[in-house]
Amino acid sequence: MSLAELFHQETGPLTRELLRQPGRFGLGQVPADLRPDAVTDMVCGFCATGCGLRVHLQDGQAVNLTPTTDYPVNLGMACPKGWEALRVLDSPERAAVPLLRDAQGRQRPVDWDTALTQFVRRFQAIQQEHGPEAVAFLSTGQMVTEELAFLGALAKFGMGMRHGDGNTRQCMASAVTAYKESFGFDAPPYTYADLEESDVIVLVGSNLCIAHPILWERVMRNRHQPQIIVVDPRMTETAMNATLHVRPKPKSDLALFYGIARILIETGRVDREFIAASTRDFEAFAEFTAEFSEERVVEETGVDADVLHRMADMICPGQRVSFWWTMGVNQSHQGVRTAQALINLALMTGSIGRPGTGANSITGQCNAMGSRLFSNTTALPGGHDFRNPRHRQKIADILGIDVKRIPEDSGLPYHRILEEILRGRIRGLWVVCTNPAHSWINQMQCRDILDRLDFLVVQDMYHTTETARLAHLVLPAAGWGEKDGTFINSERRVGVVRQVRRAPGQALSDFRIFRLIAQRWGCADLFSSWTSPAAVFEILKRCTQGQPCDITGIGTYDDLEAAGGIQWPAPEASGRPERERRLYTDGRFFHDDRRARFVWARPEPLPERPGGRFPLLLMTGRGSAAQWHTQTRTRQSSVLRRLALRDSVVEVSPTDAAALNIATGDQIEVISQRGRVRARAVLTHAVRPGEVFMPMHDEGVNRLTYAAFDPHSSQPAYKACAVRIARMT
Ligand code: SF4
Repeated sequence: MSLAELFHQETGPLTRELLRQPGRFGLGQVPADLRPDAVTDMVCGFCATGCGLRVHLQDGQAVNLTPTTDYPVNLGMACPKGWEALRVLDSPERAAVPLLRDAQGRQRPVDWDTALTQFVRRFQAIQQEHGPEAVAFLSTGQMVTEELAFLGALAKFGMGMRHGDGNTRQCMASAVTAYKESFGFDAPPYTYADLEESDVIVLVGSNLCIAHPILWERVMRNRHQPQIIVVDPRMTETAMNATLHVRPKPKSDLALFYGIARILIETGRVDREFIAASTRDFEAFAEFTAEFSEERVVEETGVDADVLHRMADMICPGQRVSFWWTMGVNQSHQGVRTAQALINLALMTGSIGRPGTGANSITGQCNAMGSRLFSNTTALPGGHDFRNPRHRQKIADILGIDVKRIPEDSGLPYHRILEEILRGRIRGLWVVCTNPAHSWINQMQCRDILDRLDFLVVQDMYHTTETARLAHLVLPAAGWGEKDGTFINSERRVGVVRQVRRAPGQALSDFRIFRLIAQRWGCADLFSSWTSPAAVFEILKRCTQGQPCDITGIGTYDDLEAAGGIQWPAPEASGRPERERRLYTDGRFFHDDRRARFVWARPEPLPERPGGRFPLLLMTGRGSAAQWHTQTRTRQSSVLRRLALRDSVVEVSPTDAAALNIATGDQIEVISQRGRVRARAVLTHAVRPGEVFMPMHDEGVNRLTYAAFDPHSSQPAYKACAVRIARMT
């Protein structure tokens, strides 16, 4: 029995029950007894698909929602998380008052004045004693763009911090680096309509069916009867629906794609005209791929030769081929080069800039794309470069600050910030809207590191997250639906979110908290024009002028709502925005010579290979469409809880299970060098002998994972570590 079958068995009756309830899951219907008197359209606050939701209001407060039928992203559809987006806001776990740890180690309610005084006093004391670099922040792809821009500017330009990073490092840093190196800017090419235009859809490390279910629905709307290639070591729900399921050994996909490239080159099935006009370094790349003989690729990947050739036949030029990837590529010790191997295939076959094509990274969090461009962590606002003096001066002029306040590099990435805490050089940490004590790789080490801080502040909607429980100070924050701002989805579409209900208790919007901190810190004069999210949106628009992500042509939030979101670029005087738009239609990229680059490198071995006492390879991934990351929000909904599996599970191949006398339903232990967790065994051919799989949402999974990182993107490699399993005695 696979996880998919188990999921269906456990949740099927509830799904059927919900579907029978008119107004609950029926499109465009609202229960009559609620009598809404107004509606407002906004985008969902869970995933980067960025679906439009129509929120129904009664006396100005949200009473229900339905998917927006004419929003170009979801066309009237929503997944269970979207349907439950309002319900997860009502929870006894909501942080409603500031909490301060007392001398006995207990978190006690305090008023905002005390909380802010402590925040400033403790962080400033650390900076005075150990230098401004001794305090850092960890941000998020879950806040609205205006707030994450405010956090980055306040921390780095106002409070003098040098180091800050986002939880986006965990999900798409590899795609960012790949795009920057290959295209000259972090600019994904596609629009979701490409899913409906392709003849061939190549999904790599992406369980689209459950991770991005609305995008899978867009695939199902494709009238060209597309061939679907799924590249994944595991038989996922998506792979079950593929025309061709290619199952390489875990993390051998780089060799696979170089092998496909070699076949296409040697058989002359490349787009010479596009390569000559729009790219650089193809000949050297072609020479490199000659190393990847059929025998070598079969040996390294475990993929049969006829499957290699079938895949090459399907993606050759002349077809509308689109390549899509998610965490199976990004969360790898060679994520950047693997993403670029897909980009190389798109470039050499001319599969870019035309309908139904593209080398397309699908992001995870609702505002990952906003974070990439505006969070002031890896790039200055508008995708500018910290190291470029002209860029620093431009941003300083727009913000009206002394350019000396802007650091000359982006500071340390996430894992290096944690290392510096371990070394005692960073002693204060401000964690906003993320939960590293659950989600960071090698969790027990992460918790040990967080425990060493002199002062840990967590600003969050919920006081019960694993990280909030460790905090010296918890600042209660409003959530999605309780504040205004914008998100940018995977296809570069800027969408609006609105305040449609009041935050509980004394919780404030993150924006309001940043303003209060700026005042208390003594740097409010730097942010005198940052009076509201709408005002900051105007500032951010000016930061993008002349950049590939120029959005100076976008008007107000109302304009965004009326347009159904607007994809960047949208420069001033560009006229009425198109509903759907892709990049590189003219074959010109963002490097100075306007050519894309072929980028490659030799595959590296797994950082932690199975063997000895740990003979199995653990893969992790999405569990169900009803679960979101650490489940901080989704576990607040009884519907979503019932649509997810009840307890931790691990998929085991029947061969491995037989050797250990394990049956489906047995409680077993999964053990790595770093920790152990209990889980229910699910025997299935979805994983092969030597491999096991666990959903990423369970709190214990990252006790097992091994902290390896892509050397170019610093993204953690969550998808492969060595474990053993054993029956509970
Ligand atoms: S697919 Fe993503 S954006 Fe759409 S409703 Fe579900 S969680 Fe929200």
